[in-house]
Amino acid sequence: GDFAEELETVVIGSGPGGYVAAIRAAQLGQKVAIIERGEIGGACLNVGCIPSKALIHASHKYQTSLDSKILGIHTKETTVNFKETQAWKNKEVVVTLTKGVEMLLKKNKVEIMKGEAHFIDNETLRVMYDDESGQTYNFKHAIIATGSRPIEIESFKFGKRVIDSTGALNLTEIPKKLTVIGGGYIGVELAGVYANFGTEVTILEGSEQILPGFEKDMVKLVVDAFKAKNVSIVTNAMAKSVKQTDKKATVTYDAGGQEEAIDADYVLVSVGRKPNTDDIGLELAGIKTNDKGLIEVDEQGRTNKKNIFAIGDVVPGAALAHKASYEAKVAAEVISGSKGAAVDYLAMPAICFTDPELATVGYTKKEAKEHGYDVKESKFPLAGNGRALSLNQTEGFVRLITEKESGTLLGAQIAGVSASDMIAEIGLAIENGLTAEDVTLTIHSHPSMAESVMDAAELALGQPIHI
Ligand code: FAD
Repeated sequence: GDFAEELETVVIGSGPGGYVAAIRAAQLGQKVAIIERGEIGGACLNVGCIPSKALIHASHKYQTSLDSKILGIHTKETTVNFKETQAWKNKEVVVTLTKGVEMLLKKNKVEIMKGEAHFIDNETLRVMYDDESGQTYNFKHAIIATGSRPIEIESFKFGKRVIDSTGALNLTEIPKKLTVIGGGYIGVELAGVYANFGTEVTILEGSEQILPGFEKDMVKLVVDAFKAKNVSIVTNAMAKSVKQTDKKATVTYDAGGQEEAIDADYVLVSVGRKPNTDDIGLELAGIKTNDKGLIEVDEQGRTNKKNIFAIGDVVPGAALAHKASYEAKVAAEVISGSKGAAVDYLAMPAICFTDPELATVGYTKKEAKEHGYDVKESKFPLAGNGRALSLNQTEGFVRLITEKESGTLLGAQIAGVSASDMIAEIGLAIENGLTAEDVTLTIHSHPSMAESVMDAAELALGQPIHI
């Protein structure tokens, strides 16, 4: 129709930012509509966190079946039918989850609109529906959660052989050779998947180390594990150009002043993501972005227009799903009348699903010092943990950063099996201002990986039992 319909709260995008914001705002009494131009669940559920973790799991299963001789398990021959792996990932994992989210939206009476939204001004937007019809809506509040997409570099145009993370997640064959440009966590996780399946992988990283956000002793474990799988890692490498044919792609790069070329079946370009803020009519709504195209918001998620909020990958900070969901709840509460709700990122974890897993929360030792703390560092090796030993995975450690005087937990870094789960306990402790002693007074079940957190805390108190 031609005249505008009225909406109370409209959420644009249904990723882990948008769908969580929509559900929470509805729970708090708002009448909510969510607009999605693609698949419900956003990048995270469809082409990000979830499918990548599914393929990582499958690749571990494959690896484990090859490596289980020491446990007395001998398999005749382990083969992979990668089309079946992909079908499992797509149907059993992704679709199950996205359908689940759709159900949750409906259960909470969120209206789902399948189309593309563009602002007309700061109280009006237009939705172009999939059938090419359009409708204009007035809204009281809007939450922008349009997420991000892979960066495409001019000299590495995506095509049949030059692919982005979405392409790498959806290959239907295991490549013989794969070149990965960019050693950030997305590139490294996907490199790990294919390396586990037997692909000859080369990672080209522009800086001095892969996973630049993680500390050296953590990254070293990942690098050593990669080396054991014959993955080549070239650091300080400048990828310059690519020649793409129907069958392969050849990358030319510069390493230490030397020009090199490398052939592969596929080249994965994972050099970062950019926010989907360029074509949603932000200028018409009068919403400001910074030089990276990110929307500047205050600690309640409010843009420079007071009725419009922005969350997730479109705002500054780490581009992580749990950050998007966290900001979503704050924005939903503020819209629904909470005056005090505000973000606080101190206890926000970051995880890399490599071999071994890496996880961090709070400050590193260096960051804690920079913030003026007198710090103590306590590093407990997983080799001292019975559960790790019985899992045949003793690589890694739990490191706690505490304030020297009070023992207050300021941060932690964990490398090893289940690091992604273990980090949650320390997040809870930091969020609540707990000390190392509080952790030691908490009975941890035996045998468990989480016991290592208690062991590290005992170390912080100078009374370690297991080291
Ligand atoms: P998105 O999930 O990107 O969702 C945005 C949605 O908005 C999309 O569905 C899009 O179609 C829709 N949209 C955009 N424009 C419009 C419009 N104009 N109208 C209507 N709809 C629109 N994070 C983690 O925390 N852990 C991980 O393990 C992890 N692994 C990842 C692995 C990969 C391969 C990738 C690519 C990302 C990974 N991430 C991970 C990052 C995570 O996916 C993102 O941080 C997260 O999805 C951001 O959520 P969001 O809600 O801001 O945006």
